[in-house]
Amino acid sequence: MSGTVTRSEATASAPERVPMPVAPLLEVSNLGVTYGRAQAVDGVTFSVGEGELVGLVGPNGAGKSSTLLAIMGEVRRAAGEVRLRGAPVPARPENVVRMGLAMVPEGRHLFPSMTVHENLELGRLARRQGRTPRLDDAEVATLFPVTVEFARRRAGLLSGGQQQQVAIARALLSDPDLLLLDEPSLGLSPTIVASVFSALERINSLGVAILLVEQRAEMTLEFCARSYVLVGGRIRFEADRSTSVETVVASFFGAAPVVSGNRL
Ligand code: ADP
Ligand code: MG
Repeated sequence: MSGTVTRSEATASAPERVPMPVAPLLEVSNLGVTYGRAQAVDGVTFSVGEGELVGLVGPNGAGKSSTLLAIMGEVRRAAGEVRLRGAPVPARPENVVRMGLAMVPEGRHLFPSMTVHENLELGRLARRQGRTPRLDDAEVATLFPVTVEFARRRAGLLSGGQQQQVAIARALLSDPDLLLLDEPSLGLSPTIVASVFSALERINSLGVAILLVEQRAEMTLEFCARSYVLVGGRIRFEADRSTSVETVVASFFGAAPVVSGNRL
């Protein structure tokens, strides 16, 4: 599985480079989300740099979706703050999109009775004025040919993989600086996952930062330069491509990771 979803051969075989420090784009500090008395997200702090590709991995129920929804202002932030290039991100979804964030939610959430074209128009409407988009319509069409092939079809009639591609295209058409994806691989065949991830790689290479939320640790660790491990509503540690998948998966079950000889 992991072999089909790695970064391109060219990238993978390039000599390891020391990563350049990147300016913070998204900064999440001490974020808390509660549902009634249940604490789903508890003091979560992490950042994504300009143009970075960062993972957020954790088991089912870890608080991954709640974290993304709170960043977007779609669930109430019980604590903490979210900043984009230093400016506070208001907890109102419509304003968040205008600041340059776009989310592809878990389960895609297309409007099933609207055509693919109409769904895409909603993304385009959210575009900020006076900017040349990083990906123009032609580039989005090339990355996701289903958006052209099935433009007139009702979105609800498409397969899960096709809907995922339309949902990513819709988010991209708002021309985000940061794309947040909630488990884009869920329910897709390995071939479709490989094609979606290769599109994400291309999108990132055009300067769009990506925060990729996944349950699938091995795939995410390999794909992202850095990954945060979220368990029980808390960030347990930060992993990179040198972190063993066993360490990450063991932490899903409560084991404290050993990083550089120090127990965290
Ligand atoms: P993940 O995306 O990592 O699977 P979630 O953020 O969906 O985790 O959920 C974190 C915790 O919050 C879980 O215990 C889940 O049951 C709970 N939870 C999520 N959404 C709601 C909700 N709308 N109401 C009550 N509890 C919720
Ligand atoms: Mg989730």
